[in-house]
Order: sequence, then structure tokens, then C-alpha cells
Amino acid sequence: MWIKDYLNILRCPYCRGELLLKDNKLICKKCKKEFDIVDNIPILLRW
Ligand SMILES: [Zn+2]
Repeated sequence: MWIKDYLNILRCPYCRGELLLKDNKLICKKCKKEFDIVDNIPILLRW
């Protein structure tokens, strides 16, 4: 899954924390916000 290659450079837009890939979602390790992945594109700017 290509998105794993981007996990190193992707950061939570709210707290700049590292993101974790889980159940086809990205979860911020720091603030625990969840971001959906739609068509392999992480939706980082939606609540
Ligand atoms: Zn965060």
C-alpha cells in the first residue's frame, strides 16, 4: 500500500503529530484525531 511510504512525511494538520495507519484510517498518535482515506488519498483537512 503506497500510503505507508508517505507516513514518514505526513503529519497531523492540527498538532503536527505522527500519523498511524489503522483500519484504512490515519490516526494521530498525539491528539488521536482520525482521518479517512478515500481512494488512497488521506483526507487530512476534514474533521
Ligand atoms: Zn494530531
